[in-house]
Amino acid sequence: MKIGFIGLGNMGKPMAMNLLKAQCDLTINDVNQSIMEELSAMGAKTAATPAELARKVDIVITMLPNGNIVEQVVNGPQGILAAAQPGLCILDMSSVAPGFTRKMADLAAKKQVDYMDAPVSGGVKGADAGTLTIMAGGASEVVAKCRPILEILGGKIYEVGAVGAGDAVKMINNLLLAVNMAATAEAFTLGAKIGLDPKVMFDVISTSSGNSYALEAKMQNFVFKGAFEPGFMIDLQYKDLELAVQTGKESKVPLMIANVVQQLYGQAQAAGLGKEDISAIIKPLENLTGIQVRM
Ligand code: NAD
Repeated sequence: MKIGFIGLGNMGKPMAMNLLKAQCDLTINDVNQSIMEELSAMGAKTAATPAELARKVDIVITMLPNGNIVEQVVNGPQGILAAAQPGLCILDMSSVAPGFTRKMADLAAKKQVDYMDAPVSGGVKGADAGTLTIMAGGASEVVAKCRPILEILGGKIYEVGAVGAGDAVKMINNLLLAVNMAATAEAFTLGAKIGLDPKVMFDVISTSSGNSYALEAKMQNFVFKGAFEPGFMIDLQYKDLELAVQTGKESKVPLMIANVVQQLYGQAQAAGLGKEDISAIIKPLENLTGIQVRM
């Protein structure tokens, strides 16, 4: 089976590298030429546009920043659908809105192209290790066709429902991640300000009821080290909160916490931190309080 991969960023690059390591026949496309050259040197074939890539493969994986870019790559003038043959399958692993995915699946169906969503969790570390949690949404025969690829990329693969259902679960997960990260940053700043050692707080809380992924992965690997290279960018987390906030409005579910937390990420963007890891949400607080939470 010939595989195409579009979007070779913090997540897509290590995922594509795992497909190459598994001896897959891989063709890649990205607007960033230097990433294309790097993966080409490792054995990937390259395509100048998504349309050119679509002509050469059976399944196209997309791992792109947001819905606007997915739409351009799938349905733009040089997009996948402009060149797709019936029977092609699009596997979108980006984090986008469930309704958007259903719309793209309808467009694809008009060209007899299959479409499924399979967003992921586990960060760059999980992408590197091939242990991502994958939330698959789509017709069972389409998911079955893509499953061998998902098994190379992920550790746990959940089939969660019809097309768009994977994106819905991912949106809820990332709402919780955003809240947990902001709350953990705030709590640790308070602890440090009143004289607690970050290591003592980490040791106790990571085995207590205040534990979370934000504490274990993000405080430990980013904040304590003062290393804020992404990882998962604040800009992308803001985008995921927007998906949740919009869905809350459409569904008439008030989201008091999500709305406030989105403003915290917006504040970090305004401070120039959009391209840093979400753990940098602590920096505005550190600046305000004059304390740094480091080991
Ligand atoms: P990223 O910004 O690092 O990578 C995006 C890649 O897409 C870049 O290489 C960029 O050059 C490429 N790109 C942009 N526009 C393009 C276009 N028109 N055509 C071809 N390539 C294009 O983002 P990321 O962190 O890899 O995230 C990708 C997706 O995965 C996002 O939807 C994000 O929310 C989600 N996600 C990220 C993480 C994480 O920890 N970083 C974890 C889970 C899910």
